[in-house]
Amino acid sequence: MGTPAKKRKLNSDSKASPATSRSLDYFFGKQKQDPPKAVSNAEQAIDHNCDISDLTDEQLARKLQAEWDQEDDATKEMQENTKADATEIHAELADLPERSKHTPASEGADGEAQEPYEQPNDTKATPFVFGAKGKNTLSLQSAGTAEDTICSNITFDESPLTFDPSKYIKDLQGHWAAEGGDASYALLTRCFVLVNSTQSRIKIVDTLVNLLRVIIEGDPSSLLPTVWLSTNAISPPYISLELGLGGSAISKALKNVCGLDNKSLKALYDKVGDAGDVAFEAKKKQSFTLRKPKPLSIKGVYQSLVKIANTQGTGSGEIKQRVVDRLLQDARGAEESRYIVRTLCQHLRIGAVKTTMLIALSRAFLLSRPPGADFSLRNPQELAKLKKENLVEVWSKAEEIVKACFAKRPNYNDLIPIMLEIGVCDELLIRCGLALHIPLRPMLGSITRDLSEMLTKLQGRDFSCEYKYDGQRAQVHCDDQGKVTIFSRHLELMTDKYPDLVALIPKIRGEGVSSFIMEGEVVAVDQNTGDLKTFQTLANRARKDVVIGSVKIDVCLFSFDLMYLNGESLLDRPFRERRELLRGLFTEVPNQFTWVKSIDATSQDSETVLEFFKSATDIKCEGIMVKILDNLPNPNLQSEVIEENDSAAPEAAPPPPTKTTTKGKKKSAKDDPSPAEKKTRRKPLLATYEPDKRLDSWLKVKKDYSTTFDTLDLIPVAGWHGQGRKAAWWSPILLACRNPESGSLEAVCKCISGFTDSFYKANKEFYSQDGPNTLGSKPRYVEYTGGHPDVWFEPQEVWEMAFADITISPTYTAAIGLVSEDRGLSLRFPRFLKKRDDKGIEEASTNDFLAGLWRKQEEKAPGPGKEVQDEGDEDE
Ligand code: ATP
Repeated sequence: MGTPAKKRKLNSDSKASPATSRSLDYFFGKQKQDPPKAVSNAEQAIDHNCDISDLTDEQLARKLQAEWDQEDDATKEMQENTKADATEIHAELADLPERSKHTPASEGADGEAQEPYEQPNDTKATPFVFGAKGKNTLSLQSAGTAEDTICSNITFDESPLTFDPSKYIKDLQGHWAAEGGDASYALLTRCFVLVNSTQSRIKIVDTLVNLLRVIIEGDPSSLLPTVWLSTNAISPPYISLELGLGGSAISKALKNVCGLDNKSLKALYDKVGDAGDVAFEAKKKQSFTLRKPKPLSIKGVYQSLVKIANTQGTGSGEIKQRVVDRLLQDARGAEESRYIVRTLCQHLRIGAVKTTMLIALSRAFLLSRPPGADFSLRNPQELAKLKKENLVEVWSKAEEIVKACFAKRPNYNDLIPIMLEIGVCDELLIRCGLALHIPLRPMLGSITRDLSEMLTKLQGRDFSCEYKYDGQRAQVHCDDQGKVTIFSRHLELMTDKYPDLVALIPKIRGEGVSSFIMEGEVVAVDQNTGDLKTFQTLANRARKDVVIGSVKIDVCLFSFDLMYLNGESLLDRPFRERRELLRGLFTEVPNQFTWVKSIDATSQDSETVLEFFKSATDIKCEGIMVKILDNLPNPNLQSEVIEENDSAAPEAAPPPPTKTTTKGKKKSAKDDPSPAEKKTRRKPLLATYEPDKRLDSWLKVKKDYSTTFDTLDLIPVAGWHGQGRKAAWWSPILLACRNPESGSLEAVCKCISGFTDSFYKANKEFYSQDGPNTLGSKPRYVEYTGGHPDVWFEPQEVWEMAFADITISPTYTAAIGLVSEDRGLSLRFPRFLKKRDDKGIEEASTNDFLAGLWRKQEEKAPGPGKEVQDEGDEDE
């Protein structure tokens, strides 16, 4: 048996395909389900200039192999002296770390044996076999297989507080050293398999934390590629590095490498439905490969992806194909093939995206550091002794830091090197903060069902209502040299798309402004009249390399925020201040650059807000964005502050059973916290700019949330003594609808919202205890089974009420039997709008009308489902 080096020399002497005929025949013979047969040398000869499409699968495989051989020959000389022959390998396998000193690591520098080798079906446990001894083949236990055993013994899914990376690192490093010292892709694959096999988020995070810890301690230089590969990306969105692989490249690779023909490829795909799973099945069935795989390293795979993305121009297709083929060829075993292909398809399907990764990184760096680093760590044993809530606090603090950094500078290339140096600490926030020409992740608005809910949520606060334009969000960066970059909502670079905006910047930049980061909505407009055009019009604008003279669709930037000014971050300043700077320091250019139209208001201005909302929708805006202006509540508005949610809280029913998320799952408690949770979780709303957060300090009210602004005309029937400063008044007040069939009034909700102090006062006088308008006990025609009110009103008034939504209630009996046999309906966030002096109680809303509104609401199943889905855009 010749050494690999000698065999290569032989191959390179001849332009014919390598001496692999028997094995190739066997390989293709298998594919055709025919018995192996000999192929003559003449048959093996490949015309290197022929058109690839004319070749049979076998010929193509030979052609590629010949090309690879030529390529490999270029590096052969360098390696010849350092390569041991197969016999040597065989002899030295027991001593892998020693041997590793001689093994080069660079991609493509394989210099391996050209003997095709047989690969057993169960690639995990069974050693690779180079044919059979005595038949010009060699039986060999591969180093990779030994490592597979180590990898499969790592309990990655154990709690990080008991997991000890040092137990495995020595062995792993020994095996990595045999292949150049870099952490193997097998390790990552092992982790992917575990993550893929569980639904438990805790297990997924634990597995990732433990993987990261092994890498941090064992091969920190592989951490960055590990993070990229685990998050299924190779660069941040604003750096355009696209793999640019069509599906055909992957199927070609499967054909080239695994010996599948079109028919069997299609059959497999039809059976399993995922390209990665096809690769898994194909690799499982494969007995031989054309060349010995060079075990994949995490770094190597990442570099191959970057190479694919960077390869452009003539012939790039073939070069990319070669890299893809090699990756698949070098993948040891079915699982590696599956994840390589999924990575190439950019659909990893392991559910470990941004948020999970950031959490895992924050925990990993609390417990592990690379050799040579001296930042402080937490002792896992000590952490294990903490009470659950204290441990949560430790984890959350670290998480917050890492997430805040990534929100301001969303690039692992920036984050990871600094973390390797200083771990998770406050300094990270400074070293990895806001920077010009790097987009921060935008602040997002929480959804509200309608104006009423918005007004309830923002009681006691000054807020700004802004038109919500229907265009494209733009983040504009400008440095003191005047260089401009523009980013999209999803952080893609779109400077080339808007040369007209770039040209506008010098005009809008006031005298005192050197550098800035500003946000606004780009909207297609009529340049002469300023009339807004639809989003569709904007969407028709060219995307790339737009030349300023050729712009056909004019746009206006409606600016709404300023996050950075003259070298200083404004994120921590309240919105009122940021807005003042924006409007004070920049200059409007008619129909090209202006501010979003806005009014300032409070919850007491419901009429004005409604008018503003209508004016927004009249000019085809989507609705309004409502933003808190100051960090602190307005003390003058405290009289209107009521404990929001309380009205529905005590008796609020769970959401109707029909409500599902857009993913078809029932909403979990986490998605829709109980009123009690809402109470305890309530935090003061700040007016700061919070990158990547969806908070109630920005609320969206869209016109399509409710097609009609449905209100109910209800009858006040009872009251309770108010608490605290409301002690002299009736608050809450019980309201009922009418059941025309039975003639009874059915209680719907308690309301404490929308009343002014003067209203409360007048109301108390009208319904004074023992006065003419109150009753000594509950009238028989009023149906209410909840707690006893302090006073019963003589039903006589009609009040118009707004509300957020209608819920099925175990307490209220309104409309009982119409939507549920044993439950009635109630309102969430009921809010008093006005007295309907023009209506008598016989004109109050009926139970039937209420049930109809509930059905309409359920048909729409609006708003919140979408928010749950947005939570996944973190990509998971
Ligand atoms: P989100 O961007 O909140 O994830 P989404 O993509 O569904 O949600 P919308 O619900 O339509 O978008 O609302 C948010 C978007 O509205 C912003 O991203 C921004 O592009 C746009 N917008 C228009 N006017 C304003 C404004 N005055 N303030 C903030 N955003 C505005």
